[in-house]
Parts: sequence; structure tokens; C-alpha cells
Amino acid sequence: MRPDLLNPLFAESSSLKGVGPGLARPLDKLGLTRVKDIAYHLPDRWVLRRAVANLDEAGLGEQIVLPLTVRDYRQSAGRGPFRVMAEDAVGNYVALTYFGRAAYTAKKQLPLGEKRWVAGRLDQFGQTWQIVHPDHVSEDSAGMLGQLNEPVYPLSEGLTQGRVQALVAQSLAHLPKLPEWIEPGLLARMDWPAWHHALPAAHKAANKLAKDRLAYDELLANSLALMLVRESNRAKKGTPLHGDGRLRAKLNLPFELTGAQKRSIAEIESDMAQGAPMLRLLQGDVGSGKTAVALNAMLIAVEAGGQAALLAPTEILARQHFETLNKMAAGTGVTIALLTGRDKGKARESILMGLLDGSIDICVGTHAIFQEAVAYRNLALVVIDEQHRFGVGQRLMLTQKARRTPHCLAMTATPIPRTLTLAQYGEMDVSRLDEMPPGRQAIDTRVISTERIADVVEGVARHIAKGAQAYWVCPMVRELETEDIAAAEARYAALKERFGDTVVMVHGQLRPEVKDAGMERFARGEAQLLVATTVIEVGVDVPNATLMVIEQAERFGLAQLHQLRGRVGRGSQQSTCLLLRGEALSETGRERLALMRETQDGFRLAEEDLRLRGGGELLGTRQSGDTPFKVADFEQIARLLPLAHDDARLLMERDGGLSSPRGEAARVLLYLFERDWGVQLLRGG
Ligand code: ADP
Ligand code: MG
Repeated sequence: MRPDLLNPLFAESSSLKGVGPGLARPLDKLGLTRVKDIAYHLPDRWVLRRAVANLDEAGLGEQIVLPLTVRDYRQSAGRGPFRVMAEDAVGNYVALTYFGRAAYTAKKQLPLGEKRWVAGRLDQFGQTWQIVHPDHVSEDSAGMLGQLNEPVYPLSEGLTQGRVQALVAQSLAHLPKLPEWIEPGLLARMDWPAWHHALPAAHKAANKLAKDRLAYDELLANSLALMLVRESNRAKKGTPLHGDGRLRAKLNLPFELTGAQKRSIAEIESDMAQGAPMLRLLQGDVGSGKTAVALNAMLIAVEAGGQAALLAPTEILARQHFETLNKMAAGTGVTIALLTGRDKGKARESILMGLLDGSIDICVGTHAIFQEAVAYRNLALVVIDEQHRFGVGQRLMLTQKARRTPHCLAMTATPIPRTLTLAQYGEMDVSRLDEMPPGRQAIDTRVISTERIADVVEGVARHIAKGAQAYWVCPMVRELETEDIAAAEARYAALKERFGDTVVMVHGQLRPEVKDAGMERFARGEAQLLVATTVIEVGVDVPNATLMVIEQAERFGLAQLHQLRGRVGRGSQQSTCLLLRGEALSETGRERLALMRETQDGFRLAEEDLRLRGGGELLGTRQSGDTPFKVADFEQIARLLPLAHDDARLLMERDGGLSSPRGEAARVLLYLFERDWGVQLLRGG
């Protein structure tokens, strides 16, 4: 049970003044459902604004405040942006650009012929100046000129900076005093403030000590929770499995396993023979051959008289696994079933029966395979594909399914640096597939200026004229997701105009059925060009897709670019990846893209990514799924995680039951960061 003193923090956001049904959606969108989420909604940057008399005094990319007179409204065709044309004191024009459904508000704030003070970031749109979604518009300069150093909070449609500021202030007024969980010596050495001082301080200014403390809290909570899982797993009873090799001997793979695959299989086999359940992560780049390793592990389970289940994050991936495994295992005689949320009625019943009576050896599916109604005769191994899509908490629920804890093999294609592996998968042992199957063709990667986009479109035209398929990736880079979606939709519209119905689009705001349908049309080859935001990262395998275009490539992290690029080069055809870069490319941006051209080694790119991050120009830092953290950024993870890890270990050694005063404080910490599954394991034994 959550300690009472945390209750005010876990109250619903709607308990705050001024939060009605209208704000529920925008807050939800940002994950700000409780008071604590708002209190931890930290500014992601600070704006130092300069007041200028006219545009000639301002620099491109600069945050400015200036007086403008509204001259004209322009609505672009389709779902394009709404632009307010305004004139400065010396006759320069600037477009104030609004995406989404902001036109109504814009007209109200900026009436024709009137003078207004406008604050925002000056950039360029073709030959004209523009300010996209001005931060403030006001009739007089008073309020604005006083706010030259202002926090900038991540927003969603329907929220303004002012609104968020007011909510943050309210949430901070509710802060309880929590016991100190950080080791006193460390706290003193780092000169960190107490928690209830640190949180308000982090909202007031760019306060490094306060932010570090908050990040450390999160890292400590995480390390501690993972250690608790590891400990409790060690103490659990599993079933030692000894495969006799009879099924594996019948496996007729069209290739020789790589050294890395053989080594991983041996590690898995030895884990599964132990009394404690296996808890192992198989880390291997896209195309490194994880499926063959998983199949070997599952056959070991079946040889030993058990069943295996493979969990995929989406239906499409589940179906693909099912087909691949069936092909690979054809000669072995094992029975493989596919179970997804879509299966209903008789078909579903018969699969459920098969799992219960043991006539099905291997079950592939989405989380549906772990629903209440699904019972196994003897579930011995659970394989989880793309583990990062599932939290540790979720995984713990899955493995509760069997009478004895099944062995667990998690797989991920996200090559992350070693520090992050520790942060994300610290409770597991790791096998790495650090060797690619032979004969892989290098993906021809080129960096092209975005000015040459017309040539790129012609390249795509030639490509699909040959019957091949291509991806077109639009980035998610703006503060408002809707603006990105609008930009992606605009690109989609333009490409559709050029290529017709063979273009499909998927993005995060589409309903899952619509998204799946689009993906499936592409996977089946009915559509040739898939326009997507980054949702294809963990996605389909379409060997015929041999061209990928990535817009604004410099805004992505290396690891992410690598993941995306891994979608091509999956067949025998030579593949190409075109990285479109903006005009103003920073030094690190240049370095990053050069690395993409140079190497296809995911582990190397992941390490370099971490090294090159922190410039603040990447969109990745608070992208969900990137890391398990909301507060700690990459730089802090690299710097503070080793400390947190040691601290957690020390605490576990001294007080594994978390019953000393500091242990009690640590429990509060685990609840605060919702790692309370750790505490629950503690109670269980
Ligand atoms: P991952 O799941 O790690 O991205 P897959 O298991 O889908 O990779 O394997 C990618 C491709 O490589 C598949 O077509 C698979 O048949 C092939 N493959 C796997 N292992 C080998 C190997 N040792 N030699 C040659 N090809 C392999
Ligand atoms: Mg795979």
C-alpha cells in the first residue's frame, strides 16, 4: 500500500483548481494525470528573450519580442497551416504561422489592422520571416518585456505556457515533506537540496543541483527496483529444463548459425537447466538473427516436455513471427499456434483447448496470450520480443501465469549503450548478438540537402516504377505533436498527389485499426510508399522495401536513425537510405550523419549516440520508449547512474528487506516513482 504521505501527490489532476473536463485531454496527452506528474513536468528549456524594435535587429533562430501590425490572413489549402501576415515598424513582413485548429484563436488574438506585441522564435519559411506558434501575443508590452527569462514547458494542443505555469504552481503548493532516501554522505558531497526544495527550484531557473538530485532519485528508484526483482527471482522456484536435442536435430535451417547465435543459445540452455528461473535479455541488432535463437530456446522447452509462448508487441509482428517460426520448424513436428485479440469464437476456443491439454507446443501472440482465460498445461518458457515495449512490471505479471515461474527470455533490437542496458535491464543477464549473419549488403546511405527534395521525389518515382517499395519518414520534432502530424499529413498529401493510391500513411494519432490496415496494405505489397512518423521503428519486415527517405535526419538520435534504417536492407536487393538534412547543420549534426554513412554497427552507433547527445538539439531526450526515465536525461544517466547503482547495491546489502529508517524512505521513493512492484516482491518473500 502506498504510504499516506504520498496521497496528495497521487491525487487526480482534476483536483486542482481550474482543471475541468476541457483540460483533461491535453493533460492526459502529456501523461499529466496526477498532481505529481504536473509537479514533475519540468521545463525542457529556458528562453532568454530579446526585445527588438524591428526584424532587422533580430537574428534567425533568436527568441524575440517585438511590436507588429496585423495586415492579412492566409489559409493554406487542405490541412496546411494558417498564416497571419504582420508588418514591423520599418516595413518588413513576418508570417505568424499556426498549425492544426488554431486559426480561430489566432484571428481573435490578432485582429486585422491592430498592433500587437508578439514573442516567439524567429525563423524562415522560404523567402519570408516566420514565427511558428508565437509564445505570447499581447496588446501591450508590459507583461512580456518583464519575462525575458521564461521556462518553456512541453505542451499539447489546448494548453498554453501560462496555463501550465499556473498548474505547476498549484501542484508545488501540495508538496509533502518526505524522508530522505539518499545516503547522507553522498547528499552532502554533492551539495544537493532536499527533495521538497529541489522540485520547486527546478521550475524556477536552470538549477543544476536541483535537477541532478531529482534525476538521481529516479535513477536510484530504478536501480533499487531492478535489484529487488533480481533478488526475488533468484529466490524463486523454477523448473530445470533439460532438452535432449531431438527436436533441434530435426531443425533444418537454410544457414549455419553465427558464433554469436551459438554462444547465446548455449547461455540460454545453461540458464534453463538451473533451478532458478532464467531472466535473460537477448540484445541483437535488427537482422542479427534473434528469431533463430528464440526458436532454439523454445525447442529446448518443448523437448523437456513444456510449452513456450512468444509475446510480440503488435498483431502484425505476431503474425510474422508465426509464419517465420512455422517455416523454420517445419521438420520438427512441433505444433505452433497464433493467438491474438482478433481471434474470436470457435477458432479461439480450439486454441485455448490446445494450450490447456498441451497439444499446442508453442503459442505466438500479442498480450492476449496472457489474458485471464488463457491457461497452459505446462508453460515453461516465455519469450518477449521487443521487451522495451513492455515494462518490467508488465513482465512480472506475465510470468505469474504459471504455477512455477517460467523461464523468461526477453529480446530487443534496440542496441543501447552499456550504461543504459544497466538502467533498463539491470535485473537481467545479457546475451549479445554482436555478429551479423554473413552476406549482408551494406545499405547505401547518403546525406542530401533538403533543398534537393524534388530530385528525391523523382528518385522515389523511379524506384516505385520498378515495382519496389519505399518508406518516407517524417520526424516528430515540434513542441506540439499536432504540428508534426500536420507536417507529415502535408507531405503525405503532396506524395499522394504525385503517386496516387499507392501511398499510405501511418502515425501515432491514427486509431490502431486504421494504422494496422495501412501497415498491412504496405506489408502485402498493395501499397508501395509508406509515409510514416517514427512508429515504424519497431515494425514490419518488408524485404521488397529497399528505399528509405528520412526527413530532417539531423534531428534524430543515431540510435533512432539506425533503427529506422534497419527497416530496409532486409532482402537480397541493394538498399538505399537517403538522409535529408536541413540547411543549418551544427558540428555534432554533421558528425552524426557522417557516422551513419560510415557504419552499420548498432552497438557502436549507440555508444556514439550517447557521447554526442546533450547538445539539446535532438528530439530523442524525452521521447517515450527511449529510456525508462522521465526526469533523468541522457547526460545525467551517464553521469549519475553508476552512483545510483552502487548506492542501491549497498543499501540492499545492508538492509535487503528495506526495514531500516533509510529502507523505509527508499520504499517511499519506490512508490513515488511507481516502481512499487519492487516493494510488492519484497512482501511476497
Ligand atoms: P532479428 O529478429 O534479429 O531482427 P531475424 O531473426 O528476423 O533477425 O533474422 C533476419 C534474417 O536473417 C532472417 O531472414 C533470417 O532467416 C536470417 N538469418 C538468421 N540467422 C542467420 C545466419 N546465421 N546466417 C544467415 N542468415 C541468417
Ligand atoms: Mg525480430
